Amino acid sequence: MADAFEFADELGPYKIVHVYEPSMDLRATAVVDNVAAGPAIGGLRIAVDVSTRECFRLARAMTLKNAAAGLAHGGGKSVMRADPSMPLADKEARLRCFASALRQLDEYIIGPDMGTNEQCMSWVHDEIGRAVGLPRELGGIPLDELGATGWGVFHATDVAARRLGLSLKGARFVIQGFGSVGMHAARFLADHGAILVAACDSRGSVTDADGLEVAALTELKKAGKSVVDAGIGVVSDDPDAVIDVPCDIWIPAARPDVIDESNVGRLKTKIVAQGANIPLTDSAEIILHERGVLCLPDFIANAGGVICAAVEYAGGGERAAFSAIEEKIRLNTEAMLDISENRRISPRAAAMKLAVERVNTAMSSRRWRVF
Ligand code: NAD
Repeated sequence: MADAFEFADELGPYKIVHVYEPSMDLRATAVVDNVAAGPAIGGLRIAVDVSTRECFRLARAMTLKNAAAGLAHGGGKSVMRADPSMPLADKEARLRCFASALRQLDEYIIGPDMGTNEQCMSWVHDEIGRAVGLPRELGGIPLDELGATGWGVFHATDVAARRLGLSLKGARFVIQGFGSVGMHAARFLADHGAILVAACDSRGSVTDADGLEVAALTELKKAGKSVVDAGIGVVSDDPDAVIDVPCDIWIPAARPDVIDESNVGRLKTKIVAQGANIPLTDSAEIILHERGVLCLPDFIANAGGVICAAVEYAGGGERAAFSAIEEKIRLNTEAMLDISENRRISPRAAAMKLAVERVNTAMSSRRWRVF
């Protein structure tokens, strides 16, 4: 088990709570990284290989994402070491046990992440009355169904395109990972006249320089099929074929580290809008920046989900969430690009600066600050 102080730096972590219940072999950890801006929001991840270190890194990412999004929430995360596909009754028992153990940890609001969903959040809510990503019946906003994150990716992309003098009407775009985030980003872009020229999922890719129909691909995915089943365009069983498709906007919306030093040279685009978390390695992002490709970092472009969760927690509805996502992501993308241009630093470095400054400002008003 990691020493809690191993991770300590100028931002956190504020608290690390380990939960072990031998009767069900429950092993879980919650990290509340920083609460200067308000109670931490961050998901609960269930996976067989999670660790305290991973939990801390994810919690820090939430501190930065929430600060960059301008939310009155700090960052936190929790992990449970277990098989996420365990029988539902076991899952419920473990989640209820974990939630009870966090009853007093009221600086942390649990949300869904890998291995957890709305139903899991309803058990947590039932135990301790503190969770986001709830079912609609409990006041939740179904963010994946509505496309909250895709809506944010669309707005970040639109701001970036305007900076480059690129009209979305007729702009060619690619979606790498046609899932919840990717399909909705595609829908909003297509609604503004952009043309989807390639898309992929875990089974393969489909390409058509004349344009693919977003609605048809979405129907297929919702029916549990793949984009390769559309019977249109050029089909390949290699999902990575979309890396070679020339376009104006390339949207990674699947797995981490899809673009690294070995394949970054294949990308031919003007904008990379990161819907997924860490889809590019640091070095690939630097190479693209040096080539003049505008990379919108994940924690700015894909903050729509957490903004939606914050609106839900505050008791707001779908319309309020979509309007908050639009306003915050447009303003933050503009602010990041201003810093990037004025200081001649990458958009990611600019976004980090923006986020850390916001956390530091919030921390400077805490009463136990050392003068
Ligand atoms: P999802 O499971 O709905 O969709 C992922 C898609 O990627 C699927 O179509 C899947 O087939 C495809 N895929 C999987 N492996 C692939 C591969 N190797 N190559 C190409 N495609 C592949 O997931 P999602 O909710 O859309 O999340 C996608 C990413 O966005 C994840 O990194 C997630 O952490 C991040 N994210 C999601 C949200 C959200 O609100 N859902 C918010 C912020 C960040």
